[in-house]
Amino acid sequence: MAYVIDSSCIGCGACTGECPVGAISDNGGVFQIDASACIDCGACAGACPVGAPKQA
Ligand code: SF4
Ligand code: SF4
Repeated sequence: MAYVIDSSCIGCGACTGECPVGAISDNGGVFQIDASACIDCGACAGACPVGAPKQA
């Protein structure tokens, strides 16, 4: 299991520093989660103002 950032992401960057394993990358404003690194903790979802990270 891993979280996935959906299209509602507004690119605020609030999630990146919250991830304990550094699984969230910012590729020119497109935020993505490395599924192989994500430990499914949900911290990104809690930090996101629009609820873009969802459990896949
Ligand atoms: Fe990182 Fe946890 Fe979000 Fe996975 S669920 S991307 S480990 S903050
Ligand atoms: Fe996108 Fe939410 Fe992360 Fe902001 S906190 S970059 S809106 S996923």
